[in-house]
Amino acid sequence: MTKIGLVRCEMAARSCPGTACFKVIKTKTGAFEEFKGDDIDIIGMITCGGCPGRDAIRQVQEMVNRGAEVIFMCTCLIKPIPNPPKCPYAEELADAIRDKLGVRVIMGTH
Ligand code: SF4
Repeated sequence: MTKIGLVRCEMAARSCPGTACFKVIKTKTGAFEEFKGDDIDIIGMITCGGCPGRDAIRQVQEMVNRGAEVIFMCTCLIKPIPNPPKCPYAEELADAIRDKLGVRVIMGTH
């Protein structure tokens, strides 16, 4: 059993229901391929809180406190979807989550 948390773009969340993320979780495809044969427990799915994404750290800490072992930065943070521009803070946020919270971070979901 792997407990995961997801971080999504606040701006993208206004127009994306997260369907593609939930599909790859369910089918263990995309970035979830490595979890085939393992159960996934979704601890939470948060948004960054809006540019520049500083609320993500506090909320990821909450997910870690509740057992999250792997944090996924959703594809909306690493590609310009559903609309440009691409998030300029994604790598910085991922590094802060790794460094401050000591948890594994995977870039992208699908
Ligand atoms: S900081 Fe990045 S992920 Fe958050 S709203 Fe801005 S562009 Fe989206």
